[in-house]
Amino acid sequence: TTFNINGLISSLPDIEIITDTFQVAKLSQDYHTFSPILTTKLAGKVGDIVIRPANQSEVLKVAAACAKYKIPITLRGSGTGNYGQCVPLYGGIILDTSKMQNICWVKPGVARVEAGVKLAALDKKAHETGWEMRMAPSTYRTASIGGFIAGGSGGIGSIQYGLMGERGNLIALQIVTLEDEPRIIELRGDEVQKANHAWGINGIITEIEIPLAPAYPWAEIIVTFDEFMQAARFGQALASSDGIIKKEVAVFADPISQYFTALRQYIPENKHAAILIIAEPSLEFLPTLIEQYQGKVTYQKSAQEALKGTHLAEYTWNHTTLHARSVDHSITYLQSIYPADNLQTIEHMYHHFGDEVMMHLEFIRAGGKVANPGLQLVRYRNEERLNEIIRYHEEHGVFIANPHSYFIEDGWKRIIDPEHLKFKEMVDPYGLMNPGKSKVLSVAFAEDAGN
Ligand code: FAD
Repeated sequence: TTFNINGLISSLPDIEIITDTFQVAKLSQDYHTFSPILTTKLAGKVGDIVIRPANQSEVLKVAAACAKYKIPITLRGSGTGNYGQCVPLYGGIILDTSKMQNICWVKPGVARVEAGVKLAALDKKAHETGWEMRMAPSTYRTASIGGFIAGGSGGIGSIQYGLMGERGNLIALQIVTLEDEPRIIELRGDEVQKANHAWGINGIITEIEIPLAPAYPWAEIIVTFDEFMQAARFGQALASSDGIIKKEVAVFADPISQYFTALRQYIPENKHAAILIIAEPSLEFLPTLIEQYQGKVTYQKSAQEALKGTHLAEYTWNHTTLHARSVDHSITYLQSIYPADNLQTIEHMYHHFGDEVMMHLEFIRAGGKVANPGLQLVRYRNEERLNEIIRYHEEHGVFIANPHSYFIEDGWKRIIDPEHLKFKEMVDPYGLMNPGKSKVLSVAFAEDAGN
């Protein structure tokens, strides 16, 4: 490359730097491999070196060095993102936050942590005082909180609290800028949206203040159904029951459950299934609701029992795709939000595509209402057919957050707010942060980097 990497290395004498090409290549990867299209597009994209700052003052030094030498910088938490968010398109520095593991404090209903803290670690700490995270992705055991905020969207818990971007789900973000003299900026309240889900293009998040939820004893349940639409209607009815405290409502059309090897004994072939995580005090209300939709409980663990062994959460959200792909590697997926039309579009798509697009529904709250995102599994044929499937959905009013694109605007955040772009210009005047991931930002050094 044409970057002065050696100059940068010698200006950071006391900070951990990884130069081993095998390690660097590994730390340039994420889980975009769920997409055959991204796998091809991002092949061979690697950083030059990985830097692991131990704290904020080291981050400030790295930021100053990147600004001085004009070297691109791509943030990395645990690298579990699905869209190639932490794959560097133009080489440069991978800034790995995994040493920044400090939980600053936990108070009733709120915690402050460093960006590299693992979600499971924060959850454990919060539990000691009767609180827990409001929501977590199904990768909560490995994912970092900085990566979740910058690259994730929501997950287990979003049925109660909405997605991460919902007002109130994030209290403050502390950010280091990429200016000649990097500054520390604290965004609070609604201001946090300037750097929320920004894929590390809007400053380096160093600390996070996040609201917590009361921790309930969570029971785990599987219900099976003969008819897919009965399962979907049950999911909708449960999701809409505001008095029932819940953390997860997912519905899987046959044959998806057959990919859940460890759960197969509870979900016979040809059955459709719902996976539920419900607060124990609310369980009383489940049997009548299940009966109404002709479901059958085949698995139920109390909160105490659920602490051991299989966690049903690890079959939901994109873990569903992970399990399917471990059985059939040709399977890929879509991310969508169906129109609020009482499941008519879902029913139409279910019949229209049959087994080619297998229905996986996740119920959530969004803007005060129940919404039903789909993480449908797709039997992949080729790119043209995949685009045809996406187009058909869009023509029928389904919003697709395309997981086969590495552009931020093709995902959940369709348009970047002009205010946020202004913020970007201020915190990253040289356009060094995760360059190439936004359609509206030009890449200054694309040519001299040989791309
Ligand atoms: P990374 O992948 O390391 O980073 C994600 C993005 O954030 C990158 O753009 C990176 O540059 C940026 N970033 C990281 N740290 C910082 C920082 N300190 N400052 C600024 N930018 C930063 N996601 C969901 O939302 N919900 C799910 O339920 C879910 N399920 C998943 C299941 C599977 C099997 C897989 C493979 C992925 C899933 N994901 C899900 C995606 C991903 O696991 C989560 O979003 C996770 O929280 C990302 O955390 P991470 O630490 O791995 O982030």
